Amino acid sequence: MTGPDPAREPESRGSPKTAGEAADTAGSGAAGGESLRREGAAFLFLRQLREALTSGAPAQERLDAFVARIAGHFVAEVCSFYALRGSEILELYASQGLNADSVRRAQLRVGEGLVGLIARDRVIVNAPEAREHPAFRYLPETREEEFSSFLGVPVKSGTRLRGVLVVQNRVARRYTEDEIAALETFAAVLAETAGPAGLLPRGGQRAPAHLHGTAAAEGVAIGVAALREPPYSLPNPVAQDAEAEQSRLREAMESLRGDLDRLLESEAAQSHDAPRDVLEAFRLFAQDKSWMRRIEQGVSSGLTAEAAVDQARADTRAKLARVSDPYIRARFDDLDDLAERLIRKLLGVREIDPEDLPENAILIARALGPGELLDYGRERLKGVVLEEGSSGAHAAIVAKSLGIPMVVQARGALESVEQGDPIIISGDQGQVHLRPHPDVLAAFRDKIALKEQERAAFAPWRRLPAVSLDGRRIRLFMNAGILADLPSLRDSGAEGVGLLRTELQFFIRARLPRRSDQEAFYRAILKSSAGKRVVFRTLDVGSDKVLPYLNLQTRREENPALGWRALRVGLDRPALLKMQLQSLVRAAEGGPLTVMFPMVAEREEFQRAKALLMREIERLAESGTPRPSKLEVGAMLETPSLAYAHDDFLREADFLSIGGNDLAQFFFAADRGNDRVAWRYGALKPSFLRFIREICGRCSAFDLPLSFCGEAAAKPVAAVALAALGVETLSMRPASIAPIKRAIRSVNLGEAREVIDAALARDAYPEPELAALLARR
Ligand code: PEP
Ligand code: MG
Repeated sequence: MTGPDPAREPESRGSPKTAGEAADTAGSGAAGGESLRREGAAFLFLRQLREALTSGAPAQERLDAFVARIAGHFVAEVCSFYALRGSEILELYASQGLNADSVRRAQLRVGEGLVGLIARDRVIVNAPEAREHPAFRYLPETREEEFSSFLGVPVKSGTRLRGVLVVQNRVARRYTEDEIAALETFAAVLAETAGPAGLLPRGGQRAPAHLHGTAAAEGVAIGVAALREPPYSLPNPVAQDAEAEQSRLREAMESLRGDLDRLLESEAAQSHDAPRDVLEAFRLFAQDKSWMRRIEQGVSSGLTAEAAVDQARADTRAKLARVSDPYIRARFDDLDDLAERLIRKLLGVREIDPEDLPENAILIARALGPGELLDYGRERLKGVVLEEGSSGAHAAIVAKSLGIPMVVQARGALESVEQGDPIIISGDQGQVHLRPHPDVLAAFRDKIALKEQERAAFAPWRRLPAVSLDGRRIRLFMNAGILADLPSLRDSGAEGVGLLRTELQFFIRARLPRRSDQEAFYRAILKSSAGKRVVFRTLDVGSDKVLPYLNLQTRREENPALGWRALRVGLDRPALLKMQLQSLVRAAEGGPLTVMFPMVAEREEFQRAKALLMREIERLAESGTPRPSKLEVGAMLETPSLAYAHDDFLREADFLSIGGNDLAQFFFAADRGNDRVAWRYGALKPSFLRFIREICGRCSAFDLPLSFCGEAAAKPVAAVALAALGVETLSMRPASIAPIKRAIRSVNLGEAREVIDAALARDAYPEPELAALLARR
């Protein structure tokens, strides 16, 4: 078939003929009577499209009429709609211009061909010569070889993909921006009208689905899906009352500006020389006249307020696709974010509150910070699935410490999950089972029961000391961060707390804890530890540990992991560090106190931090607070530079603790928060083991106690390797203490050391041989 069929398209004669005119729908038209006339015509056309989909005709005829109108409108030879079937298949669902026999037959997989590319990446494809596009794939049954130019846009309801809408022309041409905007508007009408009208494939989306992600916190959880940001779907984009829409838009915009102003004027933003540039930029966008005008024009041409914002956003995204400058891209991202906020405001959609979580909730989100995770707590939250995130990021550490299984990098989760869906996640393997089949459910129930049995089987090991077969005693401590962790000190068999991440206490609050709150918290920790050693690590914020109320990041950093974080913040803003040190000294009440500074890169930083502590102790002593009976001050070795500090540093510090998570990321230059590269580092890599061996050698020469408190300490083979190389103390999450005790008690560490030395001499991984040693018993 060639070109629009006039018999099926009588009304389109009265409607605008060029897509440029149609783009006035998006509000880019000139002022004056001509513009109004065209806006009126565009409004009418949208209404006609909607009527085509909701008429009493059979379903296929309605879809056919819809695509025929669009083809006519574009003066295009082809307009096709490919509907998403299930989560993988795109089926040619209606077409004006392609071989009629291929409708409801021709299929592509998501990712296959130009249509599949649009669906997978949610991008617009505008190709004057489609056949020359690298992603082109020819479907013989459609006979589309005659058409050169191709314009396709995703069809989405909210964040959910419904299909792809395409126009094609025989002549080679690049479609204009106005035409792209027009096709997106038509796609919005299709998405929002065809679903409720029962014109889209059903059933497939509700079938069981299985997603592969990356394991971030172990354990299995069975529960119901709770989307952190409930998806919205834009209601009918055609407005009934343009006046009312304008006033809704004005109100929402006012309210959004108010939010931004409040944010800017907040105590936190005022009290520091804060990220005003970022916020200001955001506010400027919110006042950007041309952006607003574009949205208002969308509304005057017949769109609802939210559809007009969505339209403006689509426009921005189309521009973004052609920009490579990172600064400008970031500005576009801000604009995108602003549009999203505005749409959610218009629709009244908010993030799910912790109190609104259902029982046994498995939270599904794009990304989540450690503080946000703590906000949800562990009462109702049983698991977390993130589309993004990383197994090395702090949210994963918090999940582990809360005992909540977590899967990250679960691509497609937001797309395939619906609120309340039954869901199983396996944080051990990074698997997500949606709407599982009863057999799968039964298998996972068995797995949970088995895990329980395993846990019970480990119980006897908890009470035994971690002494290796050749008589070396390794001290096992636990990592903690919140008070609720402390009962584990009694039950897990740990000798004490080897790493108390004090920042977690800051994360669970909406504002900076006062000194008295901090003191009360440290006192409670010391009390419930009943005399066991607790290593208090001072505030370690920055990078992915963002404290919104502190507003510490005064500017966007290119490399926040290498940026202003941890002790660097404490030294540059000593008031915060001093407050924490005072609270610790007071809480110790003259008893023993152990303080550790995070991410010390140089001796001088340690000296300054220690001097601050000593000064606070003296100052408090003057007003009657007793000095700690025993004071230990240590540093975390998290940057390679500290391993090469002057010998005197090894005399000055009371102990060193290797923060293996950060140390490995800096050693391998592989961001722990980026799963694309985080897997590249590992504690058992030969180069890293050589490094640890060297550190152990230096510490032992100075009799400096050395511990390791990164995640690797919880893995039996890695823990054995560290102990064999000379690390005397390991600190890990409580659940791992018993398995690690068993591992240490099962090996001869002298033999393990020989295995490691021999492997390193060959430049080989010692892992298989160490695992074999462990498996011998
Ligand atoms: C580490 O880096 O290994 C560490 C224990 O600190 P955190 O994971 O809190 O950065
Ligand atoms: Mg660290």
